[in-house]
Amino acid sequence: MNETYEVVELVQGFPGRSTRHGVLGWSSVTLLRGTDRLVLVDSGSFGMRAVLAQRLAEHGVEPGDVTDVLLSHTHHDHAANYLLFPGAAVHVGAAELAWAQAVGPAFGPVPELYVKDLATNPRTRPIETGPDARCRVVPGITAVAAPGHTPGSLVFLVEGTAGPVLFTGDAAKNRAELLSGDVDMTTDRDASRRTLALITALWRERPGAVVVPGHDVPLVWPEGRDHPEYLGVREAGIQAWFGDDLATTHDVDLTPTRRVGDTGGADWPRRPKE
Ligand SMILES: [Zn+2]
Repeated sequence: MNETYEVVELVQGFPGRSTRHGVLGWSSVTLLRGTDRLVLVDSGSFGMRAVLAQRLAEHGVEPGDVTDVLLSHTHHDHAANYLLFPGAAVHVGAAELAWAQAVGPAFGPVPELYVKDLATNPRTRPIETGPDARCRVVPGITAVAAPGHTPGSLVFLVEGTAGPVLFTGDAAKNRAELLSGDVDMTTDRDASRRTLALITALWRERPGAVVVPGHDVPLVWPEGRDHPEYLGVREAGIQAWFGDDLATTHDVDLTPTRRVGDTGGADWPRRPKE
């Protein structure tokens, strides 16, 4: 049977970094509903825990209902929350796990103790991509090797109920990386560039396919156009207490003015065709 998944956006990725406080880490987290599977694509950062709980509850999902967590790579802003889903198999690249274990404690984004747990946790399912650099993870979901950002990064090709969806993790963090063919953070720049070319090919050979970058709003590449367009509406902001009491807040809107490539909220997630 060909399995397809309904796509539910839990947390929207944001394509930015903080200027003074290190990694911002606002990554994309998505829920996929299959016939008998509930799959999480990446698990988000520590700061997202309350938001994740709220969004899952809004969709009637108990954490224990999630059957599979797919990790695009081991960086803390994507991997930190897999333990919150006690019944889920946790799928992560075998090469990624080996690399992350070798990193150990360092001033970087690999969460060393979580990696240690992943390496021995009985729920961990290491993904071995074969000679064709692919592996079917569960029915309807294929992992494709996407080295560069990290050596064992994976992208996930999902059969969605409204068409194919490609989750790129940080192999393509945002629209700027997808369009420029170059990346901001990588362990191997040449590998990252090759991976971006592969992602673009996988995208363009599937008309109507949606790309969900690791840190950006989903995108679609309409036929006949020379650039992709965003789906959905970007929402991001910060609230600060710069005043003398808690009631006085300063709101910083982090959404840009409209620009080429914004569709102004074409439907996302997409509905299946009637
Ligand atoms: Zn990353």
